[in-house]
Amino acid sequence: MKIKGIEVEDFVNYKKPSMFIAIGDCDWKCCIEGGFDISICHNSPLAHAKEYEVDCEFLYNEYINNPITKAIVIGGLEPFTRFEDVYELIKYFRDHNCNDTFVIYTGYYPEEIESELISLGQMNNLIIKFGRFVKNAPKRFDDVLGVELSSDNQYARFIQCIKLHT
Ligand code: SF4
Repeated sequence: MKIKGIEVEDFVNYKKPSMFIAIGDCDWKCCIEGGFDISICHNSPLAHAKEYEVDCEFLYNEYINNPITKAIVIGGLEPFTRFEDVYELIKYFRDHNCNDTFVIYTGYYPEEIESELISLGQMNNLIIKFGRFVKNAPKRFDDVLGVELSSDNQYARFIQCIKLHT
């Protein structure tokens, strides 16, 4: 799988110390819908970042051998543009008896990625943060993540608590 970057110890995206992995591309949906420039998206510098080829085993070992980190956060650009890689990574951890929390940061809303959420429904201990970044909206503290999100339309849910229309 290709990743844009890895932060072996991240303390800002989840309440527990986490390994942060940046995956995916983006169609800049937040910027286009909000009518603002792509440069306003805090992930935009990653658009031109070089991608690195890694495998699940490498990421697993980076995580499991670090006594500080207690969760894994997958963030943007937009991880759902590489859904198969994200799924494979979580499954690899679960197959190796690591049930620590995974968090996926997405700009989508649940109704836009229903089939992917149904597939992920088999995974335990998985949190997804939903919603576009809305410029100038107030920030919102999210109780599930234990951190502040960039706009007040965004929220996080455990996968089992997500309501789908299907
Ligand atoms: S989904 Fe993420 S990367 Fe894409 S425009 Fe929104 S905030 Fe930026």
